[in-house]
Amino acid sequence: VKAAADKPSEPAEPPQSAAEVFKGVVQELAASPDRVELLERLRAGHEPDQHGWCRHPSHAAHWEHHPCPTLRLVTSVEHRADP
Ligand SMILES: [Zn+2]
Repeated sequence: VKAAADKPSEPAEPPQSAAEVFKGVVQELAASPDRVELLERLRAGHEPDQHGWCRHPSHAAHWEHHPCPTLRLVTSVEHRADP
């Protein structure tokens, strides 16, 4: 981890990998005071059907096994936020 606090004129960060983006999103959500509500909303509708697929309409074009990436994100945030 690099400290950038003393470098205000730092140019834009290099492109992030998907894993780094995921980590950043998890950290931001975990730090949010509204995260319980946010996570509830994120999780809504992400239920498994009888075949183990996620039923959320956002996956209509590409089937996702349950738990889908959205639920894995929610779970990651919850684990990170727990004391
Ligand atoms: Zn889903």
